[in-house]
Amino acid sequence: MTDDIHRARELLDHATAVAVLTGAGISAESGIPTFRDALTGLWANFRPEDLATPEAFEANPKLVWDWYAWRRGAVANALPNAGHRALVAIERQCREHQVDFTLITQNVDGLHWAAGSLRVVELHGNIRRVKCFDQGHAVDRWEAGEQVPTCPQCGSLLRPDVVWFGEALPSDALAAAFAAARTCDLFFCVGTSTVVEPAASLPFLALESGARVIELNSAATPLTPHATVSLRGTAAQLLPALALQGQ
Ligand code: NAD
Repeated sequence: MTDDIHRARELLDHATAVAVLTGAGISAESGIPTFRDALTGLWANFRPEDLATPEAFEANPKLVWDWYAWRRGAVANALPNAGHRALVAIERQCREHQVDFTLITQNVDGLHWAAGSLRVVELHGNIRRVKCFDQGHAVDRWEAGEQVPTCPQCGSLLRPDVVWFGEALPSDALAAAFAAARTCDLFFCVGTSTVVEPAASLPFLALESGARVIELNSAATPLTPHATVSLRGTAAQLLPALALQGQ
């Protein structure tokens, strides 16, 4: 593993444009469940596709609201971990050497901002924000109660400001992510199962465009056989080791 970290660091030291894609795995060590873990206990009988869709919300808004309220609670109590902080250090190292750096996340927890990342492309929204279902009005405050709260402007039900399965991603974020994948010469894929599209295509687009791809994951994924370097372990262990070698 030390050799792999060393090789990854060498690639980082010679890169001119770096893109990083993160997924739920980077926040696992902050105590935020990945999708697989988020469907334990009370939620064990559901699949994400049964809860994280507009159709699920229309069919049973209370169920979906409650699942997100539970997840929002986990996020509210979470702190960035050593993996988030190492990406802040790597961003700083890149900036100091005039290397382009783009951090793209599928996470909705806001922990990259909390760690101090300067620029984060959020592909799937942010669970800390709420908007209304019909008009998308942003709502800052609502009363928790038995019922799903409603929008003070139009009366429609409130929902989390995240991208559900079957919904379009924010176009600015998507364009920024695809541009970074196409133009970088080094792409990191951290803690993502690379199965949720369109984010899953980003490392493959980077590869097709000639970039090296470093995968960091605690388990193998569909990307693993294609990665230039595969770092097997947790984000909070391996990213600091990578960042430290650049100090
Ligand atoms: P996922 O849950 O499908 O996969 C998590 C991946 O992380 C797996 O490949 C797993 O092997 C790996 N992993 C687990 N712990 C790890 C660790 N400590 N270090 C490194 N890797 C680790 O998540 P995904 O690929 O991000 O995609 C699914 C969707 O889940 C996304 O749309 C995302 O918005 C949503 N999601 C986000 C959060 C969050 O914001 N924290 C949490 C759950 C789900």
